[in-house]
Amino acid sequence: MKITLNELIEKRKESVDLDIIIPMSHIGMINKEIEILSPVSLKGKIFYEDDSIYLEAHIKTKAECICHRCLQKFQVDIENSIHEKLTINEEEMQDYYYIDKNSLDIAEIVDNALVLNMPMKLVCDENCQGLCLACGVNLNEEQCDCEEDQIDPRLAKLKDLLLND
Ligand SMILES: [Zn+2]
Ligand SMILES: [Zn+2]
Repeated sequence: MKITLNELIEKRKESVDLDIIIPMSHIGMINKEIEILSPVSLKGKIFYEDDSIYLEAHIKTKAECICHRCLQKFQVDIENSIHEKLTINEEEMQDYYYIDKNSLDIAEIVDNALVLNMPMKLVCDENCQGLCLACGVNLNEEQCDCEEDQIDPRLAKLKDLLLND
């Protein structure tokens, strides 16, 4: 999804305000544990500072995630800030987001920001009790009589595998 920045690049304006919605079709998969559920709203601006061009924006969306403790799905609001330098100089396009013929691929920047800033360990609730490592019940929903030292090594291994850490 591209936005056109004619006025800015031709220096008829010092800055451009952004208030846009990026459809989910432009957002890739974050990872196998997080699914974006709503279009991403972006508010911010693109502006000159010392002859360089910057993007500063705040993005918001909703996602469905898997809790690292109890392995249940839950929904969460995702908010991130973006601070990026942009460039119109072809020689700098390896280092900064490139404005190609006055047009910037804003969805690419948002997509990368979502991937890079996603918290590694999402939990459904900071008080989530997780799963019993011995019998596997969800301790948020029921109690079990397992002793703490009775951990079934197969279940512990499974949990490790699922959590991937
Ligand atoms: Zn949980
Ligand atoms: Zn148990």
